[in-house]
Amino acid sequence: MRTAKEIIENYSGRPLRIMEVCGTHTHEIFRCGIRKILPPQIELISGPGCPVCVTPPGYIDSAVELALKHNVLITTFGDLIRVPGSEMSLAGARSKGAQIKPVYTPLDAVELAKSEPEREVVFLAVGFETTAPSACLAVKHAKSEGIKNFSLLTSNKTMPNAYRALGSCADAFLFPGHVHTIIGSGICRELQKNGVSGVIAGFQAEELLSALAVIAVKANSGAGAFFENCYRRVACDEGNPAAVKLINSIMEPCDAEWRGLGIIPGSGLKLNSEYADFDARIKFNVPECSGRPHAGCRCGEILKGVLKPEDCPLFGKVCTPLNPVGACMVSHEGSCSAYYQYGR
Ligand code: SF4
Repeated sequence: MRTAKEIIENYSGRPLRIMEVCGTHTHEIFRCGIRKILPPQIELISGPGCPVCVTPPGYIDSAVELALKHNVLITTFGDLIRVPGSEMSLAGARSKGAQIKPVYTPLDAVELAKSEPEREVVFLAVGFETTAPSACLAVKHAKSEGIKNFSLLTSNKTMPNAYRALGSCADAFLFPGHVHTIIGSGICRELQKNGVSGVIAGFQAEELLSALAVIAVKANSGAGAFFENCYRRVACDEGNPAAVKLINSIMEPCDAEWRGLGIIPGSGLKLNSEYADFDARIKFNVPECSGRPHAGCRCGEILKGVLKPEDCPLFGKVCTPLNPVGACMVSHEGSCSAYYQYGR
């Protein structure tokens, strides 16, 4: 019997373009050296699965407005601080006196609000189905404790409609195991019925090798579109009903703008009417706005798998992790960051 590594190394079937939907997959595949064993027929392309990367510049502009004009304390995961907005990043706003504080969880932001009741605290809620439950728990906790100076600026996103929008841009998706730990595999089976192939993959070297080997075998079996869950030890078919129930009790679907993909109907989450008091856009009257990415940045095409980071003329010259021009170089899950760190 051949190992997964041998199947991949000796692959000689039809050319395959495989989309690493998740930025963590991109990094782990590089870090584990898996790219070095890929034959020329297997090409890996990036996808829109880095939460910081797909957050559009208009959202950063809103956060900057909240920080500078409304004088709120912005709390956020650290990655977001250096993502450029149209005029400046949150780091730039901080140099102008804005209060920006990185936190480890949204509940830390609630505790900050509780400890300083005179101060408005806004948490920047970005991410996919994996992070929405913690934002929901924070809001639920704030409501139950009567904490009124805490709110969320939401830009939460959900993957199913993004998959549908991406459609058949690749021969197969590497579906992100952590997302499907929450939402289960129903959407993958629906995509398969519509001719879109993929496998749910974990994050360790053996799991990634297995997932790629399954794609290599199935894609050449002549059986048409396929789906396989290669991360069953964590992602079961029904997902995590408790987490989904929590999200659905506090948030509702909305249209959402994705960097590079534009507005995808029904691909976002916002607080429902019961929790509208915790919606920073409503509380501070900050409407959604369309921002402007840097004119030379190609993040949009990279997030669709149309270009690779090296195709961007700024890559590694003007744009580096120390001086990022676009979101994909900022985030530790970003493709440009991965290619810079491992691929040069
Ligand atoms: S290298 Fe920098 S400027 Fe180019 S696409 Fe990536 S993040 Fe944008």
